[in-house]
Amino acid sequence: MNFFVTILGSGAALPTGRRRCSAQVVNINGFKMLLDCAEGTQDRIRQHHLKLQSLGTILISHLHGDHFFGLPGLLSTMHLCGRTEPVTVVAPKGARQVIETTFDLTGNHIGYPINFVEMDFAEGLHRVFESPRCTVDAFPILHSVPTYGFRITEVPRSGERKVENGERTLRSPRVYTYCCDTEYNESLVPHMQGADLLCLECTFADDLADLARQRQHLTAGQAGQLAALAQPKQLLLTHISARYHEPDLLLAQATAHFPDTTVASDGLVVEVSAK
Ligand SMILES: [Zn+2]
Ligand SMILES: [Zn+2]
Repeated sequence: MNFFVTILGSGAALPTGRRRCSAQVVNINGFKMLLDCAEGTQDRIRQHHLKLQSLGTILISHLHGDHFFGLPGLLSTMHLCGRTEPVTVVAPKGARQVIETTFDLTGNHIGYPINFVEMDFAEGLHRVFESPRCTVDAFPILHSVPTYGFRITEVPRSGERKVENGERTLRSPRVYTYCCDTEYNESLVPHMQGADLLCLECTFADDLADLARQRQHLTAGQAGQLAALAQPKQLLLTHISARYHEPDLLLAQATAHFPDTTVASDGLVVEVSAK
């Protein structure tokens, strides 16, 4: 069964020609979800030949523009292209008001239902979405506005088994955990444990640790340290500041703590693999 992530935007707050702002598509055996929706995301979806109307589930980590400002345009385009099926938007409290006010004040009509699941909790792991293919649990992370990480767990098809020590056993479900944007805090580690692929933000190199603290972001070394504690199978770094033209420095600082690390680039496809 396929389970992979396509990076549409791997940059931090400032979009550049090299890196656009945050957006990813998660594909679990054909069931697709959009994860964050920065300005320009609908263009990236088209560039990567992903079908816009297949993205009926949208998860938003927080309402900063580099994760959210693409959503009104994307929802509007879905309407213009004739959508009638509902869309589910999982987002922090306030997203519904922003979207509905935008459409009301601008006279844009949306001809399909939008089911908002608004997140408003300060601790713990909460089930925010489930489908026959996956479950999504959210947990608060530490940023300047309410921000949530997502733990996406596949539902294995019945009968899917692996051979281990000569015996066929039920395969354990693969997990993709997405944590963007957050400050360094080891209290988040329990929510990251058990991930096959852990995606962490990595806005700055280690020499800008003070700036990272002020802006509530991670450095590359801090992301590597969190991964070393959480022990995912693989670490993926995203939300890279526009000041870094090449990922080598960030990769070196993260791999000093956690070797199996990849720095995301726009268009990269990463498999969520149990290995
Ligand atoms: Zn951001
Ligand atoms: Zn942010």
